[in-house]
Amino acid sequence: INWFPGHMHKARQEIATQMRRVKLVIEVLDARAPFSSENPLVPQLRGETPSLKVLNKVDLADAEQTARWLERLEQEPGVVAVPARATHPSDAQKVLQRGEELLRTGSNKASLVMILGVPNVGKSTLINAMAGKNVCRTENRPAVTQRQQKITLTPRITLLDTPGFLWPRLAPAECAYRLAISGAIKDGIFDFDEAASFLLHHLVGVYPEVLASAYDFESPAPDETNAAEWTRSALRAIASKRNLMRTGGVPDLERAAEVLVRDYRRGRLGRISLESPESVDSDEYRLGKED
Ligand code: GDP
Repeated sequence: INWFPGHMHKARQEIATQMRRVKLVIEVLDARAPFSSENPLVPQLRGETPSLKVLNKVDLADAEQTARWLERLEQEPGVVAVPARATHPSDAQKVLQRGEELLRTGSNKASLVMILGVPNVGKSTLINAMAGKNVCRTENRPAVTQRQQKITLTPRITLLDTPGFLWPRLAPAECAYRLAISGAIKDGIFDFDEAASFLLHHLVGVYPEVLASAYDFESPAPDETNAAEWTRSALRAIASKRNLMRTGGVPDLERAAEVLVRDYRRGRLGRISLESPESVDSDEYRLGKED
């Protein structure tokens, strides 16, 4: 998946310029995929500036994985990590409080705080909830915020909002799938079939009971030789459970793939994380993403 429209190039340049004046970076990450949803440009641009990593949508993530991610992220120098549901104003206020604590400099002047996040991660919802009023448009589709915008959040914090953008090369492929499944990549840019196949294999491997309880699909994890056939039978089960039939009673596997991803996004499959700290430990991962 290669997705980097012109306005994103411009955004990157603007961020590099503004970063020099920024006292704190708030990185809004998807709690279900904190590694994949982190902008790889940030560590490179941030330098010594402290970072507050907000693991948002924790209501949709596996609580045990979230706890492990929080611990892992705080091992990075200059990083504080907090869980949040941007849709809950009290969570947003806690994020704001942590931000103010990190800025405690003795000066009464407002500090510039940059907020970043991939499309659809909940950045606008969080900003509005921190501000206590609607200062950002929120929409359940990626890439609504187009320009940088300064918002006076408190007397001590001026927030620099940035467009929700992705980076030039979405690699490794697993990261691209996790971003697509979580909703950061516009529908139509990626293939629901591939995303669904990735999600099905993740589910059967890590949350084996989910496919049976949601779609009555009870089949053990496939091996490499029958993976494609296994995926089709899972999609057939979803199509039949949801009555997704083409004329003639043929199960509509394309719609089944889309329904699976949408069910996941809405939390209808339960609280499910897409990656654990260990799943991204290999050098292949780290280097692949920084490339
Ligand atoms: P942005 O593109 O990052 O600004 O994302 P938005 O703030 O527009 O939010 C995208 C969608 O995610 C909206 O439908 C929000 O209601 C939803 N959302 C935001 N935060 C949370 C959260 O903590 N939990 C859940 N379940 N949904 C959230």
